[in-house]
Amino acid sequence: MSKNATSCFKVSDTINCPKCKEKKVIKNGRTKNNKQQYYCKTCCHRFIENYSYQAYNPNTNQNIIKLTKEGLGIRSIARILKISPTTLLKRIVSIAKSIISPIISKGKTYEVDELCTYIRHKKNYIWLVYALERNSKNVVSFNVGKRTNRTLSQVLETLKLSDAKKIYTDRLKNYSYLIDEKLHSVKRFGTNHIERKNLTLRTHLKRLNRRTICFSKSLLVLVSILKIYFWI
Ligand SMILES: [Zn+2]
Repeated sequence: MSKNATSCFKVSDTINCPKCKEKKVIKNGRTKNNKQQYYCKTCCHRFIENYSYQAYNPNTNQNIIKLTKEGLGIRSIARILKISPTTLLKRIVSIAKSIISPIISKGKTYEVDELCTYIRHKKNYIWLVYALERNSKNVVSFNVGKRTNRTLSQVLETLKLSDAKKIYTDRLKNYSYLIDEKLHSVKRFGTNHIERKNLTLRTHLKRLNRRTICFSKSLLVLVSILKIYFWI
């Protein structure tokens, strides 16, 4: 046996492509930080062995989802995952883009409620309107916007399309204009489930509303975070 047999090894014996798991991996020069780069001949994916900038790590998106659902703020997530807050915000938006709203089954009972919150500063009040399906306690539809009938009606419209059997709300006057009298109910305790959900959401929203979402697209970020929060 030659000396080389022990000191030299084929890249393809030790490294699998992280994308397609194939072994046809060859060396492919170095990155600007002087790290060995590899190239997969099967799927043409380029990668390095250990990512020091965590934003490129394939697990990062999963972790972002997990921590967002825990209600952590932007800055703490960025710190824990060792990525920049800006990258994090971009990621959150792109993750949320791939989420499709749930399919609503017909003839169910819903509770609708509105939560007053603000973005950027305390004068900029907005509503978070959302509908909860009573049995499954799933959020089926939500909307964020100015405190107007339009914001409310967007959520109510989806419920109408799904042939809602009954819609429970609080005594806010706007609802009585927007919902068919036969469907509508403001009965006491009718909104118990959603009130409970509100409390949980409030705790989490408080974190979402910290100045860290001081960002030109904060409404987009807020909607994205809620999408992840409700629908993943
Ligand atoms: Zn590959």
